[in-house]
Amino acid sequence: MSFSCIRLSKICFLLSVIFCAVLLLLIPKFQASWKPRSFPQPRPPLLFNGSSKSDIPLQQVESSSIDHLDDETNNIVHMVKDELVETLSHYIVSTGRSSLKANWKINESSINPSHNMRKDHVDIAGVSAKEKLELKDIFIAVKTTRKYHKTRLNLLFQTWISQAEGQTFIFTDWEDRELRLRAGDHVINTNCSAVHTRQALCCKMSVEYDKFLESGRKWFCHVDDDNYVNLQNLLHLLSAFSHSQDVYVGRPSLDHPIEAADHIRNDGSTTAKFWFATGGAGFCISRGLALKMSPWASLGSFISTAERIRLPDDCTIGYIIEGLLEVKLLHSPLFHSHLENLQRLHGEAVLKQVTLSYGGPENKRNVVSVDEVFTVQQDPTRFRSVHCLLYPDTLWCPALMMN
Ligand code: UDP
Ligand code: MN
Repeated sequence: MSFSCIRLSKICFLLSVIFCAVLLLLIPKFQASWKPRSFPQPRPPLLFNGSSKSDIPLQQVESSSIDHLDDETNNIVHMVKDELVETLSHYIVSTGRSSLKANWKINESSINPSHNMRKDHVDIAGVSAKEKLELKDIFIAVKTTRKYHKTRLNLLFQTWISQAEGQTFIFTDWEDRELRLRAGDHVINTNCSAVHTRQALCCKMSVEYDKFLESGRKWFCHVDDDNYVNLQNLLHLLSAFSHSQDVYVGRPSLDHPIEAADHIRNDGSTTAKFWFATGGAGFCISRGLALKMSPWASLGSFISTAERIRLPDDCTIGYIIEGLLEVKLLHSPLFHSHLENLQRLHGEAVLKQVTLSYGGPENKRNVVSVDEVFTVQQDPTRFRSVHCLLYPDTLWCPALMMN
């Protein structure tokens, strides 16, 4: 009996050990099923999935607060972000909507022409058209003054302005009935004083700028009343860029940047160093850039900006663009003023430029050399001859022997 009792207790002990062992083996399984499940958080909806949120900027997504989420959820958020970035890049590339990447591409391509211009004197025939641009997209401002209406301005009306009446605007300082009859609301009486002072010239530039913004056109080009504008070459040059890029193109009159006293610079310096395009050769500014100039240029603030640095109108333009906005001037050799030796331009080359000019009374011989359409006595500025070579069908042009 005692033997069977001992045996029974041994068996019971063994059974309980086995039971405990089985129990121990099962614990992790139970534990797993008992632990409250951490379900992944619902995924935020992907953008650009045909939803109306296609305009949410990437930055906004990047900066969303994710600190409070546990690691697992964090991973999901990162995954969604990565997917989002990928989708965004794909979206931008595949649809070509004007957004981040599209703009980056355009900017890259604009850098090359600028290098060419500075170093190699870009041949405009070699610039590939990036934008379908028409003459009507350009706002050409001609600065003049009362005493030049009959002389300089008439010559321009007879020549290049006759081909661009819709895009040319005359900025003067006197109400001239004859001029008004001829050009209507394309004559702007700035009411600036008719003197050749910094203030008077800046006053005109200020009105030019405001009128351009008002016009809604894509490009602002400024010229003086002693410039010939080759419209086709201008169009070709500007077509290489997008008007929404930051473009400032023209010819510097100096071979070094100008330095101006400027006491309110962010970096603590007291001078600003910048290039500027000489107004006497003409220059152009894209609408995108012109809009950025607004705090220092619109509604009369151009005049106070010019006062701040005590420099003329064209220098002030350079100061705002290079000095303040840090956008580089594209140096183009296709713009010409009478500050350079214009006689060096001859033959076919004359017809390849964007602007031309001629020397004043003190330097009458500083003109471009073109074939004898008219003699120098008949056409002292050479503008009529150039115009006849470009537009031989013009009524007053002699029938030219074409070979
Ligand atoms: N100008 C002006 N007011 C004046 C004198 C000139 O608006 O009192 C204009 C002129 O019509 C021209 C520009 O300023 O468009 C430059 O004048 P100019 O060619 O006589 O001088 P530059 O500076 O070229 O030697
Ligand atoms: Mn001049």
